[in-house]
Amino acid sequence: QVVLTRTDRGRRIREMVHRDVLTGVLNHATLMAELEHACAYAGRHGEPLCFLMLDLDHFKRINDTWGHLVGDQVLMHVARVFKAGVRGSDLLGRYGGEEFAIILRKCPPAKGREVAEKLRQMLRESPMKVEGSPEIAVQVSIGVACFPGSGQTATDVATAADLALYRAKSGGRDRVEMA
Ligand code: GH3
Ligand code: MG
Ligand code: MG
Repeated sequence: QVVLTRTDRGRRIREMVHRDVLTGVLNHATLMAELEHACAYAGRHGEPLCFLMLDLDHFKRINDTWGHLVGDQVLMHVARVFKAGVRGSDLLGRYGGEEFAIILRKCPPAKGREVAEKLRQMLRESPMKVEGSPEIAVQVSIGVACFPGSGQTATDVATAADLALYRAKSGGRDRVEMA
């Protein structure tokens, strides 16, 4: 019993270190460490991988309209939708405030685009519903970069995804752009 409790406590502490407190997905540091590892592995095994950067559209408006606490609930809702849309073996993290990122291992560019497009649609069709309040619609812009096409290092891949995301924003939002 004592050993079990210790194991359990150790597991919980590791979870706390690696996960974002609000949404329960991987935190920034952990996700980037995973991306470095995934790029190194993919390079060695000659496998492709995709990295998605997902930034909620006009999220500031949601905070301004409904308040920060509801904004936080929306972030939790979005994390649940993304989690439901990817496989258990994919890595979902919170990149920053209202930005998420996903690592798709063993994934060619065309498949990465397909997953990104599916997630964008899923979120569009899943407004947040709270008892007694109007539904809150959320949309997302997504930049997709790939290894090895976008570069050799995790930094190259993340930078390329960020640039693609910027194009998705400037092109009108609620869309997917490939690096
Ligand atoms: P864009 O479509 O260009 O991405 O517009 P945006 O409003 O989403 O982007 P902007 O960078 O202007 O604003 C991001 C907002 O996200 C502002 C910030 O207060 C909010 N935000 C960041 N982190 C959190 C959080 O943890 N909780 C809540 N409620 N809001 C957050
Ligand atoms: Mg942002
Ligand atoms: Mg945003």
